[in-house]
Amino acid sequence: MSNAKSNTKNTTGWKTRTKLVHEGIRRSQYGEVSEALFLTQGFVYDTAEAAEERFVSLGEDEFIYARYGNPTTRMFEDRMASLEGYEDAFACASGMAAVNGALMALLKAGDHVVSSRALFGSCLYILEEVLGRFGVEITLVDGTDLDAWRAAIRPDTALVFLESISNPTLEVIDLKAVCDLAHAVDAKVVVDNAMCTPIFSYAAEAGADLSVYSTTKHVDGQGRCLGGMICGSRDLIRGPIEAYLKHTGGAMSPFHAWVQLKSMETLDLRVRQQATTALAVADALDGHPALNAVRYPTHKAHPQYDLAKSQAEAGGTVLTIDVKGGKEACFKFLNALEIFTISNNFADAKSIVTHPATTTHQRLPQEQKDTLGITPGMVRVSLGLEDPDDLIADLRAALDTL
Ligand SMILES: *Cc1c(COP(=O)(O)O)cnc(C)c1O
Repeated sequence: MSNAKSNTKNTTGWKTRTKLVHEGIRRSQYGEVSEALFLTQGFVYDTAEAAEERFVSLGEDEFIYARYGNPTTRMFEDRMASLEGYEDAFACASGMAAVNGALMALLKAGDHVVSSRALFGSCLYILEEVLGRFGVEITLVDGTDLDAWRAAIRPDTALVFLESISNPTLEVIDLKAVCDLAHAVDAKVVVDNAMCTPIFSYAAEAGADLSVYSTTKHVDGQGRCLGGMICGSRDLIRGPIEAYLKHTGGAMSPFHAWVQLKSMETLDLRVRQQATTALAVADALDGHPALNAVRYPTHKAHPQYDLAKSQAEAGGTVLTIDVKGGKEACFKFLNALEIFTISNNFADAKSIVTHPATTTHQRLPQEQKDTLGITPGMVRVSLGLEDPDDLIADLRAALDTL
């Protein structure tokens, strides 16, 4: 396909929205406008010599097998890397395949890892259960406390892991400060950036070695396909990350890559609108008599407002509220909502409410819920693309039933 890569545009200097539409395009000989879906596992070679040659040295626009790479998947990887400000990226079957791949590729028995303790349950499982089983030592810290990071990171620490904004508690971590502490001892920093969103990401600027996404969330944004992405330097991505993932089978389906590649065209518009709505909802509910608290990272009531504001323009598309009266009042409120959907996902075009204490974080022991601040009245509110006035009216009407 001689003209494939030649149709790639030079996007240097283009702004985000332009890149989100054009970056990474590989046109086939048919000159299609919309990015092609190469739903193929394998690739053919004209001669036996050509097959041998490809296995000896793989050219930039050549493929061998979809577990290693695929043209549609590569378009998605290039577009995500460009948006995130890294040299390269590797697409994975899910966010958890990406987190697992990033950690397993970089760690070995005997290594020491420091991680924030406010983590998505499956991330905690990989750190404590899986890596623990293979002799990796884990120290968990309060991610908001820089002194705790300083005390936990040792000269032999190999890796630091954190969620830049924690799910569901919306704790904000000073990413640049943690990267500096880690790099002082040559530890790699892997950041799970799902709540932060790729639009408001500051991972590359702060110096994170790998920025990992569940693209299931904002990139898809319409509740369809699972996906994950690991963004980083070419050395890391085409070195240990690709080696681990291509042999262990965490590759993304080309179909899912195609759906999410096309979703990137509207990512900036969607996420900015959802973040604007989140702030408007936080403003509207702040001080409501039926609530103990409203939290959104870049809303003034958040305890880390100054830090959140210094790192990003907006704090994502999710906020939390704490309903007075515990679980009973909380369930009454959830059941009274008309527009919001009860689900455990977030970042969808449809606004979603989640009760972490009884669903996503049900299995955590009570004292861990208490430490993290997952109260019986906490609701995670994911703002979608509906009219903000309708959403605010829906929330107020449901709170009025209490
Ligand atoms: C959803 C999520 C994941 C897992 O992503 P999947 O695509 O569901 O595998 C990991 N980390 C965080 C912070 C998430 O919100």
